Amino acid sequence: MFIKNNFRPFLIAGPCSAETEEQVLETAHGLAGSGIDLFRAGVWKPRTRPGAFEGTGTPALPWLRRVKQETGLRTTIEVANGNQVYEALKHGVDVLWVGARSTVNPFSVQEIADALRGVDVPVLVKNPVNPDLDLWIGAIERIRNAGVSQIGAIHRGFSAYAKSKFRNAPYWEIPIELRRRMPDLPLICDNSHICGNREDLLEVAQQALDLNYNGLMTEVHPAPDAAWSDAKQQITPFIYRELINSLVVRRETTDNAEFLENIENLRHKIDEIDLELLNLIARRMRVAEDIGRYKQRNNISILQTTRWNEIMEKGFEQGRARGLNDEFIERFLSAIHQESIAHQQTVMHGVAVNGGG
Ligand code: PEP
Ligand code: MN
Repeated sequence: MFIKNNFRPFLIAGPCSAETEEQVLETAHGLAGSGIDLFRAGVWKPRTRPGAFEGTGTPALPWLRRVKQETGLRTTIEVANGNQVYEALKHGVDVLWVGARSTVNPFSVQEIADALRGVDVPVLVKNPVNPDLDLWIGAIERIRNAGVSQIGAIHRGFSAYAKSKFRNAPYWEIPIELRRRMPDLPLICDNSHICGNREDLLEVAQQALDLNYNGLMTEVHPAPDAAWSDAKQQITPFIYRELINSLVVRRETTDNAEFLENIENLRHKIDEIDLELLNLIARRMRVAEDIGRYKQRNNISILQTTRWNEIMEKGFEQGRARGLNDEFIERFLSAIHQESIAHQQTVMHGVAVNGGG
């Protein structure tokens, strides 16, 4: 489950919300020839503000059964409490997903997990709305501890106060770290909720595939502009098929000897550069320690804001000239600066650094 052979992504598509029986069936028939693996629809909709369409609830579940009967597509919906799990299973929904607003709350996740005990239906866990990897992993563990053996994660982006082109900031480093910590966990990108618009769907889907994601979840509606929820980000089944056909699916590796040799050489260069970087950083820390000792003798404080601003400004300028973006420079220099301060503190307080004084 959730993993495709032949390097094809696992595809989940369907409307944000199940609005009417006609709309659900029209979408499913529109998607049936696109090679998708799961048909999605929201039946209970967690909405940020009251008054928006909150889903049709249980009466929409027989529509999904019809989807399966008429198109053969398996179905998936979001569940947010024990009763919804019970209703979904009673109506033959094939896969359940935990939404971002539930993952954030361990009580909700535990309730869902308890309702799943002894059932072993496949479950997908969306990331929490806030950028907290442990909360995401915690939800996955709760579901797994209930005996669910087929689990996947959905990356749908994270709420951020700052305005950006994304509805939910992707913070790719978080799912990348999830991959590192749980290498066997299938990872699916919900490009619709990351983008919040139609224009960037392909770019984000391609980025996810280039990061070796296993699949995509995308919202599809027969008349997107008239959708009762998330109208701006939904696309028609026709556009969806175009999107899927435009994706470049790359393999993780190959047995081509020439490729393997060339990549090996390039990786060797990277390893050498990494070593040089570490040597340089270590050298920088030794100088920071000298500065720490000198400041201590002269009774000068460690943190000097003007100097720090100067370093950052120079870093941005020199970084730009070398094709490195400001955001990276800020993260990189901040990490180095913090470590330098730690080294200066250590020498000032007379604690040994690397065995020295
Ligand atoms: C959805 O998939 O329609 C949904 C509500 O998503 P999320 O939980 O990611 O906000
Ligand atoms: Mn939606």
